[in-house]
Amino acid sequence: MTHAHGSRIQSYIGDPISETPAVDRGQLQEIFKDIQADLRFDHELNGCLNCGICTATCPAAHYYDFSPREIVQLLWTENLEGIYDAMQEKIWACAQCYTCAARCPFENSPGGLIMIMRETAIKHGMKSAQDVLRPFSRVMLKLISTGNQLAPDMINPQHFADWGPNISKVDAPLKLLRQAIPMPTLNTTTTAWEVNLKTSVELYTIWEMTGVLKQLETIDENLFDVISDIMEEKREEWDEFVTEQKDD
Ligand code: SF4
Ligand code: SF4
Repeated sequence: MTHAHGSRIQSYIGDPISETPAVDRGQLQEIFKDIQADLRFDHELNGCLNCGICTATCPAAHYYDFSPREIVQLLWTENLEGIYDAMQEKIWACAQCYTCAARCPFENSPGGLIMIMRETAIKHGMKSAQDVLRPFSRVMLKLISTGNQLAPDMINPQHFADWGPNISKVDAPLKLLRQAIPMPTLNTTTTAWEVNLKTSVELYTIWEMTGVLKQLETIDENLFDVISDIMEEKREEWDEFVTEQKDD
């Protein structure tokens, strides 16, 4: 069967793209192609009864203008324009709890499909992805530079203003307490534990090979540059250590 616009279902239900889509048809198709090409896609989407059980059990649907049923229907009917619209805001409301996946009679995973859409939004450098992920840049920097995302010294009033007055109750001789832990790798306050240099360098390779760093570059080029410098320094440090070992 041939399709005028490359979507297998549109020949049956008609073309849902309006006269004036937010981006051109080629881009809409490219985005959907990337979602559909994901290895998980066919596993997460088996059909959809439009029964709404997923939405009825979804915690995010109670608080936001968001419905997993709607997202699954957009994907199932290959509504390219609707998919693009949902990627501008709605997909970021999901809490990734997967209650929907446990309940769907078709064994779909709306939460899993939303994860694919999020990754595609990142790949395409969508503004929604940049806006949502910007607050995490500090965490990302910490994770890549130290191997941990949260350090004991971050639990202070400055970092946890949202705890309100309760944060003032967190007042302890942190350094002393950490030194009391029998494992030396936990005697630090600036990282949750000390990450071995070799492990850090191996993690960089994993992030490179799995496309994590490429995604970061798409979303935040400045952060990517800072992180690249840190990785380069640590790799040099590791190379020097290996050379020293050989010389000994
Ligand atoms: S994804 Fe599953 S639970 Fe949700 S509307 Fe479709 S068939 Fe029903
Ligand atoms: S994974 Fe997302 S869509 Fe599914 S129930 Fe949880 S919040 Fe709702």
